[in-house]
Amino acid sequence: MLDALRRRGYQCVGPQVKEAGIVYAPLTSVDALPRGVNDQQSPGEYRLHDSGAARCFAWANGAQALKPLLFAPRETLWRVERGDDGRIQFRETLPVVSPVAVIGVRACDLAALRIQDKVFLQGAHPDPYYGARRQALFLVAVNCSHPAQTCFCASTGDGPSAVQGYDLVLDELDEGFLVAAGSDAGAALLDDLTLGVSSDAQRRAVERQHVDAVQTQTRRLPSRNLRDALFANLEHPRWQEVADRCLSCGNCTMVCPTCFCHAEQDQAHLDGTGSEHQREWDSCFTQGHSYIHGLTIRADTRSRYRQWLTHKLGSWHDQFDTSGCVGCGRCITWCPVGIDITEEAGAVCGDQP
Ligand code: SF4
Ligand code: SF4
Repeated sequence: MLDALRRRGYQCVGPQVKEAGIVYAPLTSVDALPRGVNDQQSPGEYRLHDSGAARCFAWANGAQALKPLLFAPRETLWRVERGDDGRIQFRETLPVVSPVAVIGVRACDLAALRIQDKVFLQGAHPDPYYGARRQALFLVAVNCSHPAQTCFCASTGDGPSAVQGYDLVLDELDEGFLVAAGSDAGAALLDDLTLGVSSDAQRRAVERQHVDAVQTQTRRLPSRNLRDALFANLEHPRWQEVADRCLSCGNCTMVCPTCFCHAEQDQAHLDGTGSEHQREWDSCFTQGHSYIHGLTIRADTRSRYRQWLTHKLGSWHDQFDTSGCVGCGRCITWCPVGIDITEEAGAVCGDQP
């Protein structure tokens, strides 16, 4: 499959172990996949272990989602140049994009991609930077067989098995993979491969795996109408309790596959010949993010945590007609003090998960 993708001009990107974590990186060989690796995740904890097993995808998502591949952590949006006559000109800096095939995308990240497509492409002002990268993507999903203890995508309806948004989807068994196409491009690629026909027993094993993956998830978001419940509890004492623990570090927003806050700034050339207008990821947990004309609107951690949670699970519905959470659990694992979004939402809304 990797060879067939390369023949079609795609650069393959896939999960690999780097610095004790699993990240997406250019993938030139299946030998680079994390074969025989398991993960252990809990609030504020992430560890990899060698299991010695034959599987390449027996772990849940690491810190990185598809987000950095589409919404660049830092990029120049335009350049301003001053000519010899003193006049200034604005130059577009659209990215030069080559086709990329991402191997091993999980269902929650496909759901997050649908949300980011709404944010960046389906509004009144589609983002051409995101759009150029989005068009060049070929997505090979892998259904989750080993959700982490922090995953709760079953309760948000976004996983653990992928149902849409992929070109190909894989199910991993000890003896190999079952593969199915989800798009014309995926079906055309399958035509290029020499594949066997799966047996009834293999298909039953895959179905069992889907059911087991749902049943191993123990966390869930409260089932009531979270938007109304959160806004009815804006003065709940729990906001201060969580603020007493929260470091306002912004880790939760950096790893979240749907967060899109960013800041913009101009970098002037020292010789005065021009400048670059740059965009980079920002977080609603920083003090600067809510600074407007001499006033920091959310000056304390309580108001920033409340803003994050009520936006993600509440007003996101008003803006984008969907929740902003796909249950990937990253914000729980990568929070240095182990704050758990399911627990906090449950406490504020009076419905303990
Ligand atoms: S809020 Fe947390 S669990 Fe929900 S999508 Fe973002 S990182 Fe994942
Ligand atoms: S909730 Fe956790 S990850 Fe998010 S800002 Fe607070 S301490 Fe950092």
